[in-house]
Amino acid sequence: MKCKDIVKELADYLDEALDPCLRTSIEQHLGQCKDCRVVVDTTKQTIEIFCNSEPAPLPPTTRQRLHDALVKRLRRSRTGSTPQA
Ligand SMILES: [Zn+2]
Repeated sequence: MKCKDIVKELADYLDEALDPCLRTSIEQHLGQCKDCRVVVDTTKQTIEIFCNSEPAPLPPTTRQRLHDALVKRLRRSRTGSTPQA
Protein backbone atom coordinates (compact mmCIF):
# COMPACT_ATOMS: atom_id res chain seq x y z
CA MET A 1 0.00 0.00 0.00
CA LYS A 2 1.42 3.35 -1.09
CA CYS A 3 0.43 6.94 -0.35
CA LYS A 4 -1.17 7.11 -3.79
CA ASP A 5 -3.38 4.13 -2.93
CA ILE A 6 -4.44 5.73 0.33
CA VAL A 7 -5.68 8.80 -1.52
CA LYS A 8 -7.47 6.60 -4.03
CA GLU A 9 -9.37 4.73 -1.32
CA LEU A 10 -9.69 7.61 1.11
CA ALA A 11 -13.28 8.57 0.33
CA ASP A 12 -14.51 5.00 0.77
CA TYR A 13 -12.35 4.58 3.84
CA LEU A 14 -13.91 7.61 5.49
CA ASP A 15 -17.36 6.47 4.37
CA GLU A 16 -16.64 3.12 6.02
CA ALA A 17 -17.70 1.55 2.74
CA LEU A 18 -14.40 -0.20 2.30
CA ASP A 19 -13.55 -3.87 2.10
CA PRO A 20 -12.27 -4.93 5.56
CA CYS A 21 -8.98 -6.22 4.10
CA LEU A 22 -8.35 -2.96 2.31
CA ARG A 23 -9.28 -1.07 5.44
CA THR A 24 -6.71 -3.01 7.45
CA SER A 25 -4.05 -2.26 4.82
CA ILE A 26 -4.86 1.43 5.01
CA GLU A 27 -4.72 1.42 8.79
CA GLN A 28 -1.36 -0.32 8.68
CA HIS A 29 -0.05 2.32 6.28
CA LEU A 30 -1.44 5.10 8.45
CA GLY A 31 0.42 3.62 11.40
CA GLN A 32 3.69 4.06 9.53
CA CYS A 33 3.11 7.15 7.42
CA LYS A 34 2.70 10.50 9.14
CA ASP A 35 1.93 12.31 5.87
CA CYS A 36 -1.10 10.16 5.17
CA ARG A 37 -2.24 10.41 8.77
CA VAL A 38 -2.28 14.19 8.44
CA VAL A 39 -4.23 13.96 5.18
CA VAL A 40 -6.76 11.54 6.68
CA ASP A 41 -7.21 13.61 9.84
CA THR A 42 -7.64 16.82 7.88
CA THR A 43 -10.11 15.22 5.51
CA LYS A 44 -12.05 13.69 8.37
CA GLN A 45 -12.35 17.06 10.08
CA THR A 46 -13.41 18.71 6.85
CA ILE A 47 -16.12 16.10 6.34
CA GLU A 48 -17.30 16.44 9.93
CA ILE A 49 -17.63 20.20 9.54
CA PHE A 50 -19.39 19.70 6.25
CA CYS A 51 -21.77 17.10 7.70
CA ASN A 52 -22.60 19.26 10.69
CA SER A 53 -23.75 22.08 8.50
CA GLU A 54 -25.56 19.84 6.04
CA PRO A 55 -26.99 16.49 7.14
CA ALA A 56 -26.67 14.92 3.68
CA PRO A 57 -24.08 12.40 2.52
CA LEU A 58 -21.16 13.72 0.54
CA PRO A 59 -22.31 14.30 -3.04
CA PRO A 60 -20.19 12.60 -5.72
CA THR A 61 -18.98 15.92 -7.10
CA THR A 62 -17.70 16.95 -3.67
CA ARG A 63 -16.04 13.60 -3.23
CA GLN A 64 -14.38 13.97 -6.60
CA ARG A 65 -13.24 17.51 -5.81
CA LEU A 66 -11.87 16.39 -2.47
CA HIS A 67 -10.08 13.52 -4.14
CA ASP A 68 -8.55 15.80 -6.78
CA ALA A 69 -7.43 18.27 -4.13
CA LEU A 70 -5.74 15.52 -2.17
CA VAL A 71 -3.98 14.10 -5.21
CA LYS A 72 -2.72 17.57 -6.08
CA ARG A 73 -1.58 18.11 -2.52
CA LEU A 74 0.30 14.84 -2.38
CA ARG A 75 1.92 15.55 -5.74
CA ARG A 76 2.95 19.01 -4.62
CA SER A 77 4.46 17.79 -1.36
CA ARG A 78 6.44 15.17 -3.31
CA THR A 79 7.87 17.63 -5.84
CA GLY A 80 8.35 20.18 -3.05
CA SER A 81 10.71 17.84 -1.23
CA THR A 82 12.86 17.37 -4.34
CA PRO A 83 15.55 20.06 -4.59
CA GLN A 84 15.50 21.92 -7.88
CA ALA A 85 18.82 21.97 -9.77
ZN1 LIG B 1 1.53 7.45 3.10
